[in-house]
Amino acid sequence: MKVLVLGAGVVGTAAAYYLAKDGHEVTVIERHPMAARGTSYSNAGLVSPGDATAWASPSALKTFLRGIFNHDLGIKVRLRLDPYFFAWSMRFLRQCTQERLRANSRVKLRLALYARECINALSADTGVGYDERKRGILYFFRSQQSLDTGTDNYRFLAELGLPIEIVGRDRLVELEPGLAGARDKIAGGVYSPIDQTGDSRQFTERLSAYCTEKLGVEFLFGTTVQGLDIEGDRVRAVMTSAGPVAGDAIVISLGPESGLLGRRYGVDLPVYPVKGYTATIPLEDESKGPTMGGADEDQLIAYSRLGNRIRLASTAEFTGFDRTFRPRDFAAMFRTGKDLFPGAFDESKAELWAGLRPMMPSSVPVIGRARYRNLYLDTGHGHLGWTISCGSGKLLADIVAGRKPEIDTQGLLYGTAR
Ligand SMILES: Cc1cc2nc3c(=O)[nH]c(=O)nc-3n(C[C@H](O)[C@H](O)[C@H](O)COP(=O)(O)OP(=O)(O)OC[C@H]3O[C@@H](n4cnc5c(N)ncnc54)[C@H](O)[C@@H]3O)c2cc1C
Repeated sequence: MKVLVLGAGVVGTAAAYYLAKDGHEVTVIERHPMAARGTSYSNAGLVSPGDATAWASPSALKTFLRGIFNHDLGIKVRLRLDPYFFAWSMRFLRQCTQERLRANSRVKLRLALYARECINALSADTGVGYDERKRGILYFFRSQQSLDTGTDNYRFLAELGLPIEIVGRDRLVELEPGLAGARDKIAGGVYSPIDQTGDSRQFTERLSAYCTEKLGVEFLFGTTVQGLDIEGDRVRAVMTSAGPVAGDAIVISLGPESGLLGRRYGVDLPVYPVKGYTATIPLEDESKGPTMGGADEDQLIAYSRLGNRIRLASTAEFTGFDRTFRPRDFAAMFRTGKDLFPGAFDESKAELWAGLRPMMPSSVPVIGRARYRNLYLDTGHGHLGWTISCGSGKLLADIVAGRKPEIDTQGLLYGTAR
């Protein structure tokens, strides 16, 4: 079968890999000249089932509303005359109950655990490396009060099978000597030993090269998807800047842009962009940097160690498709980074970046067949797309092949995960 994958981010590229392994003739259509030039170019670097808690929660409801008025928070909401944003917000707010939080987190954890097995198997099979580290991730809190309340969600994930260790500050520094200088500022946290870290850009670029060389996948770079040519109950071709491209099956993996295409053809796909910022900085003194990934849950900053670099990431900003950034957008991130790892890096050497999370109101990605007989979705991975990409690609390939998926799909397939 000829399968067209729209978008060469980590999600589309992983799907292309599994589809090609199944023997399909795969073409990936991407507007940029290379893979991973959208959101997958940078992120916090966490491959983290431990971060599977959905964003929509009773406390997120308060933070979201506060974010409208106070733009100094980690979450910023700029009200816009955009009916699509309004509709997304209403659906997000409906997910902000304890019951929906639990249900969405349960589905995400199941997929994230499966995805971890998939990325590790893929990496072993292909030799694709990505500055990976398999030393776990620390999620920590500054005050005893936030530690007491903040560990609830992790305990819930633990009940569902995520191995975790609740740690005090001494054990935390034993696990992460890089945090020794900040020991007294941290009350304690959660250690998730099976979490990993790595560079999604490296992974995606190398996987796309592997797919081209070893599996015969064709990447049409510099080609913009403009629309779908629909005939009855099927998509006949994808309209692109290089003309129509016909296919037997089409997969939408356009990241934050997925909803823009889907809604023109009656596909209910409430993916909205949520902006975040990263800074990637060479370590001046490697012994002062982190040895594993982490998240400062009170300052809302996540970080990872990528080879001899540190990656800092923060902020959730509702500001449409704006990908611009200014130096002041990184001020709080650098302040926290230096507070945690004094002397480790020189911020003037940072590569600064901003990107858009493809966010569903429920935080659960959409995977499966939608509306047309041969149209598939693999998108909406939100804050966990790097973690989940290989699991969702494998699941998508199973669905396209009509095979029984290896993972329990309850609450996961398109139409059930809202
Ligand atoms: C600050 C930040 C921190 C994050 N941290 C983490 C983390 O630690 N762990 C984690 O798991 N996830 C994290 N994420 C989320 C993760 O990076 C994303 O979920 C993931 O990269 C999304 O991948 P994607 O392939 O769906 O989208 P993208 O990478 O954006 O890929 C979509 C592709 O489609 C292309 N495209 C769009 N429109 C068109 C068109 N019309 N024609 C042709 N091509 C088109 C784009 O150019 C792009 O290449 C973070 C995100 C941000 C912003």
